[in-house]
Amino acid sequence: SVYLDYNASTPIDLRVLDAMVEVYKNNIGNADSRTHNYGESARKVVENSRKQVASLLNISPDEVFFTSGATESNNIAIQGLREYAEKNNKKHIITTAIEHKAVLETVSHLQKEGYEVDIVSPDLSGRVSIDKILDKVRDDTLLVSVMHVNNETGIIQPVNELGEALQERDVLFHTDATQSCGKLVDEVRSLKYNMLSFSAHKLMGPQGVGILVLRKKSFKLPPVNAILYGGQQEHGIRPGTIPVALTAGCGKACEIAENEYKKNNAYLHEIKEKILNELNVSGVEYHVNGDQKYCIDSTLNICIDGVSSEALMISTKQYCGLANGSACTSKSYSPSYVLGAMGISTSQIENSIRVSWGPGTTMDDVIENFRELLKIAKQIRN
Ligand code: PMP
Repeated sequence: SVYLDYNASTPIDLRVLDAMVEVYKNNIGNADSRTHNYGESARKVVENSRKQVASLLNISPDEVFFTSGATESNNIAIQGLREYAEKNNKKHIITTAIEHKAVLETVSHLQKEGYEVDIVSPDLSGRVSIDKILDKVRDDTLLVSVMHVNNETGIIQPVNELGEALQERDVLFHTDATQSCGKLVDEVRSLKYNMLSFSAHKLMGPQGVGILVLRKKSFKLPPVNAILYGGQQEHGIRPGTIPVALTAGCGKACEIAENEYKKNNAYLHEIKEKILNELNVSGVEYHVNGDQKYCIDSTLNICIDGVSSEALMISTKQYCGLANGSACTSKSYSPSYVLGAMGISTSQIENSIRVSWGPGTTMDDVIENFRELLKIAKQIRN
């Protein structure tokens, strides 16, 4: 069997696991305990991890805040601006129809409280247009939130130009970079953003830890408030005992990504070529959703004619771990809202699967299992 659902979660790199085990064994304190060496040694681990994250993103360590994951980071980035929004009467938010639910549901909640929200849809390419977003900017716009890479299609959004344009207009910009951190390393480094979110478990790190970046230095970010009441951890941005070993895992995953992303990306590209080749020689009729010019090397969203994704996933469970959308919305095999927002027809959405892989994917596993999958696809079609 081959795991082809890296966009949902990646396996942990064993070097990350080793680093975490060391911490669990040797750093037993609370990083915020000031009265003994146990606290001090735990604090050292956390601050070293923060440096590793900062180095991957080429930012300063004091701009890195540990959270429980991208969901929480997205929530803080958006809800944390409430006080500033009320005081300055800036209650207009712009986002896109293809964001993760952690953004869409947060924004929808604020809408119920009286915020005005503009949700911009992409076209068939899977990209949202910068002009469409900029057209919506108003004097009372609080925030623009646009993801870097979509988790279902792998399509890279034009956040680079968007960030620049928003900076010129003095509009705050948040980007959910969960699917790009550790992969599009140079691109993330050059992005102009005020806030950025990601989760460690999408880059071979542990589940349950993520990052919120608050860029204080580059350009004006108002105070971001915590959304939980509690202690002063993470400068009050995220109260609660810091999970020291998880931060160590997150830091190590970032360090490995920084050292290996070039090699990894070349390999991810090879896998994509292989999968496309298998599709081409298999005799199934298919197309790939989204403009492939803009697609990350680790994802393919494939529509196979006459083959329901539900049937395919059920009958190939023992060969491939696949998805037809985000794990966060796939309790049922319901059609993807991301593909829907692109204007893809319901029947095509129902025949679409998401294939995503990573550095841990072996070529032989892919070939063997994917071939089996394609055989079954043909049986279903017939
Ligand atoms: N944003 C994106 C783009 C994602 O792909 C995910 C994970 N599916 C999240 C946010 C949420 O991450 P987590 O579940 O780790 O909080």
